[in-house]
Amino acid sequence: MRDGFPEFRLGKVLATSFTGTLSERHGDAVERIPTPRRLVDWLAVSGLAVDSCTPAQLDLARELREAVHLAATAAATQDALPAAAVRVINDRSAQGRAAAILTPEGERRWRLGLDSRVEDALGVIAADAIGILAGERDGRLALCASPTCRAAFFDTSQSRTRRWCDMNTCGNRQKKARFHANQLRKSGSAQ
Ligand SMILES: [Zn+2]
Repeated sequence: MRDGFPEFRLGKVLATSFTGTLSERHGDAVERIPTPRRLVDWLAVSGLAVDSCTPAQLDLARELREAVHLAATAAATQDALPAAAVRVINDRSAQGRAAAILTPEGERRWRLGLDSRVEDALGVIAADAIGILAGERDGRLALCASPTCRAAFFDTSQSRTRRWCDMNTCGNRQKKARFHANQLRKSGSAQ
């Protein structure tokens, strides 16, 4: 917790890292960008620093987040992409102004438009989502095995058999649950 707000769970893939700002969607949901300020913080740590954020821009961001989540879930389960979600993703992508910049160290950075608007950052996220949904990148969209999570994540493991959106949270919880179940069984059979 920072300033009383839930910590971010940052992944390596921008689009699914963004959908992860709402976690435990099928349990006690945790909103990790509850205020405009927290969206500014999340964008900054994700390499998309913006100058400011209004409540309306936070709404735009959350609308994009849910659209990416719906589309990624459909792709992971091999369902047709929901048209409304596709429209939102395309609108955000079209309305952002950002340029890919190559640093002298050979890294790719994003330079947002002149006034570094939230819309520019959302455009980068939407384009990232499009790249994944279009199957352009090496990996597979999958859903987290945790029944309270079911987050869509991008599996880039060699075997494509990753089961959890995050090893440190969902994966770890599952391991602990299995450990406790084993302990219970052992103590039960000893009696
Ligand atoms: Zn999960």
